[in-house]
Amino acid sequence: MQTYHIWTIGCQMNTADSERLGSALQQMGLTAAARPADADVVVLNSCVVRQSAEDKVTGTLNLTQPLRKKRPDSVLALTGCMVGPRTEELEKRFPHVDLFLRPQQFEPLLELVGERLGLDWQGCVGSLAPQQPDVATYVPIIHGCDLMCTFCIIPYRRGRQVSRAVSDIAHEVELLAARGVREVTVLGQTVDAYGHDRDDGHDLADLFERLNDIDGLDRIRFLTSHPSYMSSRIIRSVAELPKVCEHINLPVQSGDDEVLQRMRRPYTTAEYRDIISEIRDTIPDVTVSTDIIVGFPGEAEAQYRNTLQLVEDLRFDKVHGAAYSTRPGTIAARTMDDDVSQEDKQRRLKGLEEMQESILTSINSGYLNETVEVLAENRKRGSWTGRTRGNKLVYFDIEESDHCAADIDLTGKLVDIRITRAGPWSLAGVTV
Ligand code: SF4
Repeated sequence: MQTYHIWTIGCQMNTADSERLGSALQQMGLTAAARPADADVVVLNSCVVRQSAEDKVTGTLNLTQPLRKKRPDSVLALTGCMVGPRTEELEKRFPHVDLFLRPQQFEPLLELVGERLGLDWQGCVGSLAPQQPDVATYVPIIHGCDLMCTFCIIPYRRGRQVSRAVSDIAHEVELLAARGVREVTVLGQTVDAYGHDRDDGHDLADLFERLNDIDGLDRIRFLTSHPSYMSSRIIRSVAELPKVCEHINLPVQSGDDEVLQRMRRPYTTAEYRDIISEIRDTIPDVTVSTDIIVGFPGEAEAQYRNTLQLVEDLRFDKVHGAAYSTRPGTIAARTMDDDVSQEDKQRRLKGLEEMQESILTSINSGYLNETVEVLAENRKRGSWTGRTRGNKLVYFDIEESDHCAADIDLTGKLVDIRITRAGPWSLAGVTV
């Protein structure tokens, strides 16, 4: 039996790309191997959003060198955001790698796998929807990004925005629902800009409407939105369509207008606050999360405090905080001094995290003794995990009086959970 192993690091988009590539390889007759040492085809799906991620990829690439020597007929490929338009430098650094593929550039790999393993991919690879998907799974709907935030490498690696057709996405989600998927998260770097590059006039609200009609599907989520594209129409559709979950991730990146300008984020903090107000006024029980970078070049202490003030005022349900690190090739790397010390960056990040922990402790305590709807995703060490519609992580057990609890399989079921414990990062409870 011929086998493959895909090693993935990075964002949900990379996870989705790996699932799709795995689906193509399975359709060619390969099966998944748990270790790269046992696989005929090894793919590393890379991320370079932070230096630490890139270091991990480089370390793993170096580890594959002896494997290659042992199995010279195997296929080794590097894909994801580490592979840019110019691959000569990577080819020189890692001569043992067969192929360097830009994100979603699957064909050359399938071609080479076919050639080395004696398989015909063109006859057998159909839809790339995962063959054995999880009950909650990702569906990329846009590739690339048309914006140029100064700190970000993604537009250089994933190219300009290209949205898939509504009919194509709906067909894939129907297939996934038939394979047991109950929740899809539609993905794009600026997901709320869906359709702006197409001339059929469809936007994200239209897509939601179409997906909302799919039988067997219970929930629809979307990631990641950009404040410039969050329209009243999208907000209303989240409020009105029963399957679209009331959770919006809207990265603000900084709470200071001057820093936002230097980041090339085309909105002010006042405009951002207005959008959050509209979201909260329109969508009952909505949860809102955000992304924030501290220590951006030139960020003064007072500007950092403006960010803390915004976080304190808006009381997000989650903050994905990060200390700025220079990414070679970005506008910031070329034109700005990384002049905030490591010490200050770490102190600012810690300050942000501490503030967020105390806000979340207070928000989540409001769930105590409440009953929430959770999609049961999996069971680990006896306890189930799942998420609320608002994307809160919940650990739960089946009510003790149910003697068959250990035999009950709740995977993919919507269950009502009474919350008995609430911490800043998760909730815990029992079935009602
Ligand atoms: S919106 Fe900005 S941060 Fe997001 S992918 Fe595009 S350039 Fe990068």
